[in-house]
Amino acid sequence: MRGRFAPTPSGRMHLGNVFAALVAWLSARAEGGEMVLRIEDLDPRAASHERAELLIDDLRWLGLDWDEGPLWQSGRAALYDEAIARLDAAGLTYPCFCSRAELHAASAPHASDGTPVYAGTCRGLSAEEVARRSAVRPPATRLRVPEVGDPAGTIEFSDLAYGPQREVLARECGDFLVRRSDGVVAYQLAVVVDDALMGVTQVVRGRDLLGSCARQTYLAGLLGWEAPEYGHVPLLVAPDGRRLSKRDRDLDLGVLRERGVRPERVVGVLAGALGLAEKGWEGPAAELVGTFSWERVAAHRDDVVCDAEFLAKLLG
Ligand code: GLU
Repeated sequence: MRGRFAPTPSGRMHLGNVFAALVAWLSARAEGGEMVLRIEDLDPRAASHERAELLIDDLRWLGLDWDEGPLWQSGRAALYDEAIARLDAAGLTYPCFCSRAELHAASAPHASDGTPVYAGTCRGLSAEEVARRSAVRPPATRLRVPEVGDPAGTIEFSDLAYGPQREVLARECGDFLVRRSDGVVAYQLAVVVDDALMGVTQVVRGRDLLGSCARQTYLAGLLGWEAPEYGHVPLLVAPDGRRLSKRDRDLDLGVLRERGVRPERVVGVLAGALGLAEKGWEGPAAELVGTFSWERVAAHRDDVVCDAEFLAKLLG
């Protein structure tokens, strides 16, 4: 059993990231499993080495350790290229010239993560058309998904916290990107390659990525790998229901650490919200390994509202 931390160094770790990291670590350690650390610094515009070092330091500060890594996605381009070449060779990909504006055309339905369901616009371009358009701007690369009605395009799995899931790829995302037009490998592709090559058997992350599982499971299958088991954790939301993000600076670990909040408190408050610790308990994550269970997480899977009471518990 192998779990992983897979932070994107686009900002300081915020409480939502800590939530997922804590559960990933507890779940792996409770089964006597290993953890690997992968820095998702694929996008050169969003990632910085300095922020990655801060993420690594935050994990240590929280008492969450790992057995392998850090591996940096920025150093793994050859592995992603090789996987895309295999999909190309199988005739499963095609170049796509659609602009962002075309993709977001008002009429397009959207997948649960906000990506427009791809209408298949570039599916049937002739070789001449591809050559003509490539001379103007470089294309992105899309993966063809099975037509509605083809059972190969229906993905079913059971999430450790959110239970049985079912997605029809053609209906809920359509043909999806494996490489962007600027040459950067798509998140979906990189995650699948890395999880498989790093021997990851269990993926734990925020429930905003629940809708990516079908694409990732499908891709893993095409590449000849078994998909990992998935467990998603609730999101932390502001009192108005908006999801907390890296923009909410006041709940990032940089600010909390500066304010003198101890790791035992952070672990205690988050574990309490998931029913993994008694309310008011504070302590090291290691003390929760013995009693961790997914049944408890599943029973507390509503999003956690960071209201005044929550902040008072955190800031003391
Ligand atoms: N890198 C992503 C993040 O920081 C997580 C990706 C994943 O867990 O699959 O939100």
